[in-house]
Amino acid sequence: MHVVWFKRDLRIEDHIALVEAVKHGPVLPLYIFEPELWKQPDLSYRRYQFLKECLAELDQSLHGLGQRLIIKVGDAVEILEQLNERHSIQMLWSHQETWNGWTYARDKKVEQWTKNHNIPWHEPIQYGVIRCLNDRDGWASRWYGEMKKPVLNSPKRLCPVDEACDVLPAEEKLGLYYDGGMILQKAGRAEGLKLLHSFLSERGEGYTKDMSSPVTAFESCSRLSGHLAFGYISICEVFHALEQRIQEIKKMPFGTKGKWSSALRSYSGRLRWHCHFIQKLEDEPPIEFENVHPTYDGLREAKFDDAYFEAWKTGKTGYPMVDACMRALTVTGWLNFRMRAMLMSFVSYHLWLHWREPALHLARLFTDYEPGIHYSQVQMQSGTTGINSIRIYNPIKQGFDHDPNGEFIRKWGP
Ligand SMILES: Cc1cc2nc3c(=O)[nH]c(=O)nc-3n(C[C@H](O)[C@H](O)[C@H](O)COP(=O)(O)OP(=O)(O)OC[C@H]3O[C@@H](n4cnc5c(N)ncnc54)[C@H](O)[C@@H]3O)c2cc1C
Repeated sequence: MHVVWFKRDLRIEDHIALVEAVKHGPVLPLYIFEPELWKQPDLSYRRYQFLKECLAELDQSLHGLGQRLIIKVGDAVEILEQLNERHSIQMLWSHQETWNGWTYARDKKVEQWTKNHNIPWHEPIQYGVIRCLNDRDGWASRWYGEMKKPVLNSPKRLCPVDEACDVLPAEEKLGLYYDGGMILQKAGRAEGLKLLHSFLSERGEGYTKDMSSPVTAFESCSRLSGHLAFGYISICEVFHALEQRIQEIKKMPFGTKGKWSSALRSYSGRLRWHCHFIQKLEDEPPIEFENVHPTYDGLREAKFDDAYFEAWKTGKTGYPMVDACMRALTVTGWLNFRMRAMLMSFVSYHLWLHWREPALHLARLFTDYEPGIHYSQVQMQSGTTGINSIRIYNPIKQGFDHDPNGEFIRKWGP
């Protein structure tokens, strides 16, 4: 039996681990729901809702191939041990994962278990992030090489497997409680593809300019981040759709292209950043917990003002743009880049709080939480990297520049 362990790749298309495993024999498609992971401080109720929607969709897709998704609840090593006793695992397949410190430690244990049992664990890469990289010279061209690989079709059929499914635990059992996400994005692959196509054909034309303002960004950004974070859709699929659109635009007569060329160029760069930042965490896992540059150790640690933190978290600082952003994020689970940066800059400079607790709060609110991007950005906006210029956002100027009529502020902070 070949076990394909779905992690942050909840799809059957462009899934190299699944495609390769099927070539070698019968496949057991597995999702391990790990209660211990869900007790970590960066996980949240809304994330669980987003996950559940997609597991249901993935189950349906796999069902169409002949074998449903086997969901198991528990510790990964114990579950693999039980499955091995029943099915004698030949090989374990999963995409490489670069996520939080907890999943990193878990993967180390799984690696040891596979070695002890002489079971090869194949971990193909999925976003152009390279493990054990010596230096980043030539990284971008390797990334393009990965992205240009053809998008893989799903396998045609899976053999049925006799294995029972567990029931996912209720939120309260995990200590997860409703957190105000009243109008969260819809999850799942179908929704992700719809967003991708509407962005590339209509919504994205004004992207370069409109991404900065929270008045326009909710509509003009791709809104694919959550779908990429859970792997409902692969970066490679997005890259190919984008390249195709770039070629279409190139063929359009001069004067009819509107603002598309600039929009697609900006977007392409950001897709690369996605992987570039995950690569940083892959290379330096401690940045989730420690300052990138130790020179800044001790800068903000001495005092943590809980009242300031509470005001920031609840959107009650009295700075209209800051409060509107936090309230919008709490309800929708999303915010555009510039406003995320402003929230982080405000809590780090104006309120002078260490970045770690605010970072966790934002992680719980973002449906697209992706540790590699998140901690790199959090530290850049807090001035603790030692390599980026210090950037302090003026929350009043941001309002004048990006919400000149007070539309966004009135909507979220009446
Ligand atoms: C403090 C802070 C924390 C952040 N945390 C996260 C996070 O946890 N997860 C996350 O996906 N993004 C994070 N970002 C980056 C960025 O804000 C989001 O990727 C973006 O707003 C997602 O919306 P979108 O899909 O519509 O993006 P689009 O503007 O449509 O961009 C397309 C894709 O490019 C990638 N991307 C865009 N901007 C960036 C960037 N600056 N760095 C890296 N990749 C980028 C994302 O994958 C995104 O889906 C953070 C930014 C800041 C300032």
